[in-house]
Amino acid sequence: MAREYDVIIVGAGMVGALTAVLTAQKGLTVALIDKHSGRYPLSTPPAYDARVSAISALSQQLLEQAGAWQRIAQERLAPYQRMAVWDGLGDGYVDFDSRYQQPPYLGQLVENAVLCDALMKSVHDTRGIDLYFDDSVQAQRQVERGVEIDLSSDRQLLGAVLIAADGANSKLRHDNGFDTVEWDYGHHAIVTTVEIDRSHQDTAWQAFGEEGILAFLPLPSVDGRHFVSIVWSVAPSDAEQLVALEEAAFCRRLTYAMNGAFEALSLTVPRQAIPLRQRHAKQYVQEGIALIGDAAHTIHPLAGQGANLGFADVSALVPILVKAHQRGEALGDLKTLRRYQRARMLDNIAMSASMEAFKRTFSTQQPAIVQLRNIGLKLCHQSSMIKRQLVAHAAGLR
Ligand SMILES: Cc1cc2nc3c(=O)[nH]c(=O)nc-3n(C[C@H](O)[C@H](O)[C@H](O)COP(=O)(O)OP(=O)(O)OC[C@H]3O[C@@H](n4cnc5c(N)ncnc54)[C@H](O)[C@@H]3O)c2cc1C
Repeated sequence: MAREYDVIIVGAGMVGALTAVLTAQKGLTVALIDKHSGRYPLSTPPAYDARVSAISALSQQLLEQAGAWQRIAQERLAPYQRMAVWDGLGDGYVDFDSRYQQPPYLGQLVENAVLCDALMKSVHDTRGIDLYFDDSVQAQRQVERGVEIDLSSDRQLLGAVLIAADGANSKLRHDNGFDTVEWDYGHHAIVTTVEIDRSHQDTAWQAFGEEGILAFLPLPSVDGRHFVSIVWSVAPSDAEQLVALEEAAFCRRLTYAMNGAFEALSLTVPRQAIPLRQRHAKQYVQEGIALIGDAAHTIHPLAGQGANLGFADVSALVPILVKAHQRGEALGDLKTLRRYQRARMLDNIAMSASMEAFKRTFSTQQPAIVQLRNIGLKLCHQSSMIKRQLVAHAAGLR
């Protein structure tokens, strides 16, 4: 006999785990399934996890609501007050700072493993969530009361609604025939943790130039030593070559790409190269199932917004499910789920489109476009109104 739940969530990454906690807090019963063990061993600083996320103020609020943010040790958080962007092929420069908003920072950098570990602790402490880890969905069928699934562990579950939070290569998206619009960005992102020669001044630095798109993201300093997490987006062949370089030569290339603003001294964790692909599902919902987070959309990491968009999906979907539950409506009803799609799709498409425009504009070396983008950066730098709007948007507050 199938075990029954209001909500079955497949994928206990940041987005799935947050959805589980926020729905269970409202009294819905939840099954959370992941092929992963749900354990995130934490490294010891300064060997910070190579994968980090810039978390916006809105996302932070949701994580606080789930009781996860409070579990993150202060020494693993790096609030940044400023963002500085410049064009290595001209003199265009713009910076934003937290003068323009409350709270007094633009966002906080946190390692993905640290965030997932905190979320997992909240999952364990929330009543109403059953965990099915080291497990996955083998088969799925629509039945009168929702969606029935068979797990690899031979167990059967019945959910009023199935939520696919199984990431960029979502199997549920594929198996349920959701169409996507997708293309390669022609970029791989190299990520690692780097010791630098001076303070990053609580600033996220981003350089666009012939060396690709390079971000230096601040991490907490340790014993007077300074560290950044890098995201260096370059052509796949360059990525392969840069990852193969010996460490000292890689650091020299980093220093050069940063225009000498910092000297890269050493790496504290191995480099990883992640292929970047733009992907957007044409529909987020079908009868009985909703896509959420990276399962619904992935974007270029240049503005650090992917997880923030996923958390915004959660903040739209959860109240819709809770309200339907309180009214005794079928949670998987297409009419109900479409409310979520309507609430999120336009925003997500707008963000994807801006990332594509940014990536195209800033990865070309065509003189006319280089000249135009430098003028654009300078104009933006001079306008406090534009800055205020961009900052509020990045924080998820508008
Ligand atoms: C280089 C880089 C830098 C980034 N920087 C930022 C940033 O600064 N700020 C930001 O907001 N975003 C950033 N992002 C985006 C962010 O990392 C993602 O948007 C976010 O991790 C997606 O979370 P998710 O929970 O949707 O998916 P995932 O984190 O991929 O989680 C999916 C979960 O599903 C599980 N799963 C997968 N398949 C199955 C299956 N078949 N059965 C069961 N379980 C399954 C996986 O084990 C995993 O636990 C960045 C991305 C990249 C590539």
